Amino acid sequence: MRSHLLNDTTAERYRRSVADGVGRVAARLASVRAPFSGITPDALGPEVDAVDLDRPLGDSAAALDELERVYLRDAVYFHHPRYLAHLNCPVVIPAVVGEAVLSAVNSSLDTWDQSAGGTLIERRLIDWTAGRIGLGPGADGVFTSGGTQSNLHALLLAREEAKDEPGSGRLRVFASDCAHFSVQKAATLLGLTADAVVPVPCDRDRRLRPAALAAAIEGCIADGATPMAVVATAGTTDFGSIDPLGEIADVCAMYGTWLHVDAAYGCGLLVSPTRRGHLDGIERADSVTVDYHKSFFQPVSSSAVLVRDRVTLRHATYHADYLNPRRALAERIPNQVDKSLQTTRRFDALKLWMTLRVMGADGVGQLFDEVCDLAAEGWRLLAADPRYDVVVRPRLSTLVFRYVPHRTTSPAVIDRVNLHARKALFASGEAVVAGTVVDGRQYLKFTLLNPETTAQDIAAVLDLIAEHAEAHVATENGEHLAHAS
Ligand SMILES: *Cc1c(COP(=O)(O)O)cnc(C)c1O
Repeated sequence: MRSHLLNDTTAERYRRSVADGVGRVAARLASVRAPFSGITPDALGPEVDAVDLDRPLGDSAAALDELERVYLRDAVYFHHPRYLAHLNCPVVIPAVVGEAVLSAVNSSLDTWDQSAGGTLIERRLIDWTAGRIGLGPGADGVFTSGGTQSNLHALLLAREEAKDEPGSGRLRVFASDCAHFSVQKAATLLGLTADAVVPVPCDRDRRLRPAALAAAIEGCIADGATPMAVVATAGTTDFGSIDPLGEIADVCAMYGTWLHVDAAYGCGLLVSPTRRGHLDGIERADSVTVDYHKSFFQPVSSSAVLVRDRVTLRHATYHADYLNPRRALAERIPNQVDKSLQTTRRFDALKLWMTLRVMGADGVGQLFDEVCDLAAEGWRLLAADPRYDVVVRPRLSTLVFRYVPHRTTSPAVIDRVNLHARKALFASGEAVVAGTVVDGRQYLKFTLLNPETTAQDIAAVLDLIAEHAEAHVATENGEHLAHAS
């Protein structure tokens, strides 16, 4: 079994095995004709269940053969131009090279004595990101597993900085009703009360209304509660809308409230050559979430939480004699575990490092600009198409819309038609789109993160949706055939 350990004697086997795995993926990427095979859990489940985990195959070539059947053949491929569903990006090659390096060297970024240069590289990237945001000389932060963890981390710091006891039951967090559900989850994990997250209404463009925020904070204070944090979203998951950050920062300054900006999606604008201005005001945040694995074309996971004042990170600092003793602080040994919610932690930063060293920030930003341009074009297509209703004009790269059959006006039928169209499209595998609910009604959603997707792809997918939708209208009307002419 020692021949499977990666070390000086197995370097050649390592090279061949990884090349074999890479070769299979390359062949698959070159040959997939659709983003998905359309397979169901019922069909794939038995293939996975049939694998006897107590009978090993002995070598990776055999395991890779098997993997073709249980995974690669039917995976959902985000690089395909007709994958338009969630916030998943195609990944850039330099980042994938970084991934191969980081898992083989396997540094752990909790302490200097487990990572050395890895820690310094991560710190440079944190400083670089904080600089792009404009957080000032006291800024710091740490890489995390994703936006959910970054938001939890930021709200932990806000809770500890709040002018009230964590257990008082009086702490309140304000976020727009378009904010990400991880804010709610974080509040629960932090022991806040069930009503702690106060939803603030949005305007027609799905941006938090600063006046409504001020009123909500006033109301909270009048009720004897304590404002703990405001979460502004720079790129809502559904609409890509960006809350008015400067005006929200003014409100936060007035009440002395922690401002967290959730830029999990919108962080790509930090490197956009043309759209950086959409983030104006973000530099006034106390903390910021960025997901490089969304708009920086990085493989999962790659995210960070940044703070204006590095001193606040102490709320996540705990010492262990065997790992990061207190005296290490005096010796100025950089132990990232002092700032992190995790202990053993991947060197995800290397992927971004490789990306910036190969492509540069402008290169990444150009790709994100292209998908924002594409969304604007998609909006024009949808707005001109009588078959569809489209919600807000995109700020980033999402489009929310629904099919409106001309032969029915029943809201319940329209809901079912859209639900069905999405399901049928997914089952066909020809394209993958998302769904969401707007004002209680079913909508469809494109999240455009692939610069290879074209306006022709969007038009073709809209035709496919219309076909599936009409087939369902026909069923609803009791017609015999699914092909409405
Ligand atoms: C995706 C997203 C999150 C959660 O990030 P994960 O990386 O999926 O954990 C948080 N906030 C917003 C606005 C997001 O779009």
